[in-house]
Amino acid sequence: MDPIEKKPLFHFYPGTKILSYATAGCNFKCLFCQNWSISQVPPENVPAKDISPPEMVDLALRFGSIGVAHTYTEPTVFYEYARDVGLLAREKGLVNVFVTNGYFTRDVLKDMKRWLHAANVDLKGDAEFYRRVVGGADVEVVRRNIKDLYKAGIHVEVTTLIIPGYNDDPEWYRAFVIDFLRSISPDIPLHITRFHPDYKMRDVPPTPVETLVRLRELALEEGMHYVYLGNVADPKYETTYCPNCGAPVIERHMYHVRVRLEGDRCPYCGQRIKVVGVRGTQGNSTTAFSPP
Ligand code: SF4
Repeated sequence: MDPIEKKPLFHFYPGTKILSYATAGCNFKCLFCQNWSISQVPPENVPAKDISPPEMVDLALRFGSIGVAHTYTEPTVFYEYARDVGLLAREKGLVNVFVTNGYFTRDVLKDMKRWLHAANVDLKGDAEFYRRVVGGADVEVVRRNIKDLYKAGIHVEVTTLIIPGYNDDPEWYRAFVIDFLRSISPDIPLHITRFHPDYKMRDVPPTPVETLVRLRELALEEGMHYVYLGNVADPKYETTYCPNCGAPVIERHMYHVRVRLEGDRCPYCGQRIKVVGVRGTQGNSTTAFSPP
């Protein structure tokens, strides 16, 4: 059971927990992969357990989960299983979440519409970055899928891991990530996360926090409404601020979450905040929790 904020999803059932699982393997070979011990090895080398789709859904219900997160490696590689779990989970009133690299066909996306509620999609870098660091995928497929997931009414948040010297140029970030997302909707929550040396990129230093702060300021200046820093552990950069009056409306720190909304509105100025499934936790939070 993970906090939903760990996916990261900040505007989807904030403050709740979700049953999370993976299988071994991935369709990418990111040199920085933090989950390489399950994503880059054959399934027979990973301790695992057989769990049928009904058993997975029973587990979610037993643990009081809001649903099932298909996560950690790339869920598209076990798509058929995820869908079988997802359809059953949906029947039981639970939600389904994908944490994905966004690299799948239009047929998969068409099928997802039947059962998927939310996705956090990585937009990792430009075409050259995908060639050099990811292992050769076409980034335009990822951008197309972000747009199409949003159009399909699936809740979308986007994450970019910033690696010093690889994808930390502000001009590139403005043109390729911020302008692109804003053209879909400035309400898409954007997570800018800090790189730590791992897997085959242990010789690259961690991202300076100032670099991330600068990119966040840039995204806000350019009109994105909800921009967060990941792997920084500073509540200032994890809090949701009202895009109209600037008041903190969802406070977060180390997975502690306090929702201060009235329904889906800022309690101070009445601005609608783009958030799904709010459950009030304290103070003037009032909204009931109700899975779709
Ligand atoms: S897509 Fe994610 S899980 Fe797959 S190799 Fe890249 S970072 Fe690892």
